[in-house]
Amino acid sequence: MGYVQGLKCRECGREYPKDPINICAFCFGPLEVVYRYEEIAKVLSRERITSRPPNMWRYLELLPLDDAPTVGKDVGYTPLVRAENLARSLGVSELYIKNDAVSYPTLSFKDRVVAVAVSKAKEFDFDTIACASTGNLANAVAACAASAGLKSYVFIPADLEQGKIMGTQVFGTNLVGIQGNYDDVNRLCTEVADKHRWAFVNINLRPFYAEGSKTFGYEIVEQLGWRLPQNVVVPMAGGSLITKLKKSFQELTKIGLVEEGRTKMFGAQATGCSPIVTAVKKGTDLFKPVKPDTIAKSLAIGNPADGFYAIQTMTDSGGWGEEVTDDEIVEAMKLLAETEGIFTETAGGVTLGVTKKLIEQGKIPRDESIVVSITGNGLKTQEALLGRLQKHPVIDSRLDSFEALLVEKQSRL
Ligand SMILES: *Cc1c(COP(=O)(O)O)cnc(C)c1O
Ligand SMILES: [Zn+2]
Repeated sequence: MGYVQGLKCRECGREYPKDPINICAFCFGPLEVVYRYEEIAKVLSRERITSRPPNMWRYLELLPLDDAPTVGKDVGYTPLVRAENLARSLGVSELYIKNDAVSYPTLSFKDRVVAVAVSKAKEFDFDTIACASTGNLANAVAACAASAGLKSYVFIPADLEQGKIMGTQVFGTNLVGIQGNYDDVNRLCTEVADKHRWAFVNINLRPFYAEGSKTFGYEIVEQLGWRLPQNVVVPMAGGSLITKLKKSFQELTKIGLVEEGRTKMFGAQATGCSPIVTAVKKGTDLFKPVKPDTIAKSLAIGNPADGFYAIQTMTDSGGWGEEVTDDEIVEAMKLLAETEGIFTETAGGVTLGVTKKLIEQGKIPRDESIVVSITGNGLKTQEALLGRLQKHPVIDSRLDSFEALLVEKQSRL
């Protein structure tokens, strides 16, 4: 079963069998999963997809498993919210929030990539799952490994938010904090991956893992009524998600499930870690690694593995990249919460803050469809809001105390 042709080097085009490898042995380029699209087109239709349960596996033929998934069976199919209040506030006509802040089970889009990677790891017969993470991947790997009954090792920068740390530890994983930033963690993990036969979801299983992100895009298209959005704004850490969203739109077009069209891809980063956006603005396709310093810790990757391809994705599609400061991130988190009742983490503040800027700059036209990718949940990054929300009053439990408070509140209006 399965429609995977094999792996292929993105740089020199050399082909490889579907093994747990991620780098071309000849040119060190990254490997990408290639499918037999003619066969997929013959078996996959809109009707077939919509007749299946509402989870990411309704697009199984476009995912790199040989058989049905064995873990993460309920992941995906999060809401696409028509955001009328936020649209009014931003002065645009057709705005949507793709809301993975409520992703099952660990409240970020990383549940999608991990569901694919761990199912694949089981097909490859690994008994230990591992990852280098900025937080959300740690949560998703620890939870998925627990439910699969597999051992796991999770490596993180030591200074992550409490919510991300606890939301990993609770699953009984082997959590290792590293003194350093994500790029240090990743370097160490590459060495560990050479030494131990473990399934590092974002290292040796990276080609398979990254394919899980495509389901975020398939769902957007299906939920729009089998229509490509005209503009999509995507947060970037390593730059994988934005390239896979593009791939998801191209695939649906290629197999005839959606009419040909153009989606402008916009990438969002925090000013304190914006190597990809800086390159786009400079008009170069080579980025310069940076040392991250931002409250958007989940996006704090200073040397992004897919940075080069993320830049290409934006510029080829007619999109652009933009960045926001920590203050703008917090403002955008509050704006989304107050207009749409959605509590996103700092990464979502980056995405919405950047969307607002791009609309003001005229780079995203006000009369076109716009999808804002909300990829994580605010309960995990509460530190960002500490001391930044209005203080609430505390009173005794007498009615006249409350009435006095009301009078005072109304007099301030
Ligand atoms: C990992 C992550 C991203 C983006 O990841 P890429 O490395 O660019 O694929 C976006 N948002 C959140 C909340 C994340 O955890
Ligand atoms: Zn190669």
